[in-house]
Amino acid sequence: GGDPYSDLSKGVLRCRTVEDVLTPLEDCFMLDASAVLDFGVLASIMQSGHTRIPVYEEERSNIVDMLYLKDLAFVDPEDCTPLSTITRFYNHPLHFVFNDTKLDAVLEEFKRGKSHLAIVQKVNNEGEGDPFYEVLGLVTLEDVIEEIIKSE
Ligand code: ATP
Ligand code: ATP
Repeated sequence: GGDPYSDLSKGVLRCRTVEDVLTPLEDCFMLDASAVLDFGVLASIMQSGHTRIPVYEEERSNIVDMLYLKDLAFVDPEDCTPLSTITRFYNHPLHFVFNDTKLDAVLEEFKRGKSHLAIVQKVNNEGEGDPFYEVLGLVTLEDVIEEIIKSE
């Protein structure tokens, strides 16, 4: 097919990385895996306004599942369903990208894959110990499109 992007957008997508556009972990709306889907928690999910919600165990940097808003269609707040019941049932895959991935590459991945959200991680080898993966935040298709629009 044709090429929908201007040269300026292509330059931006080639040069900028997911680290430049991600939503930092501390700003992410997430749920603890041990949460119970009572009225208060369901209300906080609705209030967050987000469609995809990472689920973590113990620490926010340890993302183990994703909850989609539509997974809640049959959840009754009166039942106080454990979140883990829902995440185990739907079992959505997690997608990870490295912090230095260029936006054109992540855009291709978003186009190919089913999910339009990825968890951004980097290899942290700053300390004395062994290198480890450190989660920096989330990037979505929306974050990439925003860069394209800004550059047009
Ligand atoms: P919708 O899916 O309804 O469009 P959304 O907020 O769930 O809204 P995006 O539109 O893909 O998802 O993303 C909009 C912005 O919100 C982006 O900057 C993205 O990084 C950020 N974002 C997505 N999910 C979360 C989340 N759970 N917590 C915080 N920020 C998020
Ligand atoms: P999601 O919100 O989970 O990403 P979605 O199908 O609700 O999925 P989009 O991803 O924005 O929404 O759209 C995917 C395709 O489905 C688009 O071609 C869109 O026009 C079409 N679509 C969206 N909503 C409907 C609908 N209610 N009926 C028929 N087609 C729809």
